[in-house]
Amino acid sequence: MRGTEDGRDVFLTASIGSMSSTTGYDRAEEVLRDASVAMCQAKGLGKACFVMFDTAMHTHAMARLELEGALHRAVERQEFRLFYQPIVSLETGWITGFEALLRWEHPKRGLVAPDEFISVAEDLGLIIPIGQWALHEGCRQLRAWQRELVDLQPLTVSVNLSGRQFSHSELLTVIDQTITETGLEASSLKLEITESVMMDNAELSAAILLDLKARHIDTCMDDFGTGYSSLSFLQQYAVDILKIDQSFMGLGTESVAILRTIVTLAHNLGKHVIAEGVETPGQVALLRSLHCEYGQGYFFSKPGGRALIGGPPPMVRSLNSLRRP
Ligand code: C2E
Ligand code: CA
Ligand code: CA
Repeated sequence: MRGTEDGRDVFLTASIGSMSSTTGYDRAEEVLRDASVAMCQAKGLGKACFVMFDTAMHTHAMARLELEGALHRAVERQEFRLFYQPIVSLETGWITGFEALLRWEHPKRGLVAPDEFISVAEDLGLIIPIGQWALHEGCRQLRAWQRELVDLQPLTVSVNLSGRQFSHSELLTVIDQTITETGLEASSLKLEITESVMMDNAELSAAILLDLKARHIDTCMDDFGTGYSSLSFLQQYAVDILKIDQSFMGLGTESVAILRTIVTLAHNLGKHVIAEGVETPGQVALLRSLHCEYGQGYFFSKPGGRALIGGPPPMVRSLNSLRRP
């Protein structure tokens, strides 16, 4: 639709949700509710869409509503846990640090993976308190491990930041507070931000990256290769590490060519590289031949709870096979 205001053209579009049958409905509110569910779906598809309601939408909307309620309760009841996955130096075979990965210990469903709830937590703004907790807990746990495992120094912890956390006005204040409260050296903390989040607002990202650099906190561009970072962004901005997405971890000719290109590019720009999703000895051998510095994946260890480095874990055995004679 087109109109004019103050001599300027104004274009309007409408998102329409509709439902066709009146059978099975007792009240007008129910009809409106379902049309509204279809309208929300239409809005989610982009501008100017039309969506007809069906029962699967209702089931989906109810499941989402339940998840939202449960997430609010989970924050109140502190049902989140961190699992840690080692990041290994491919040159020495030693653990250099851990990535902290969030889990929700649901009272009925058990451990829930982050992919099931992070985007809803983002939409609800709950990612802010959840993320602050994860940052604090990751730093606290690493500090405790550093005290316990003196011969494994210096260990680092990598904490993931979602888009909303990364652009949150309190981010730096929260980081400063966490560092002070936990007593962790800022240089032992690394922050992982996906390539697409960084590129969503490159100017803001550049400023935040500089603020983090001034604090000696390394930043890692996560899922590298899946977004659209410009080469000038990579060249100019203060990202320290590229983390190659696990989708490039194949051993086919094309994957090898991509891996080689990323590692060379990173090194030429003065950045380190972590390969994630490393599952096989063949991948380890390839990455070492490409001089990729770090690896992370099931080959070394799945993400684990606090007991991970307490006992004699299988991880140490696989690391032994990596150590140079
Ligand atoms: P991510 O940051 O890319 O994390 C890597 C994911 O790959 C993790 O899944 C990890 O368990 C899995 N993984 C590790 N090694 C292997 C392997 O060898 N093979 C395969 N197939 N997978 C491997 P997870 O723990 O389910 O986390 C999924 C995503 O959730 C993360 O992807 C990250 O984007 C997000 N996430 C996790 N923790 C947090 C957090 O504390 N805050 C925020 N904002 N996001 C988080
Ligand atoms: Ca990550
Ligand atoms: Ca990743």
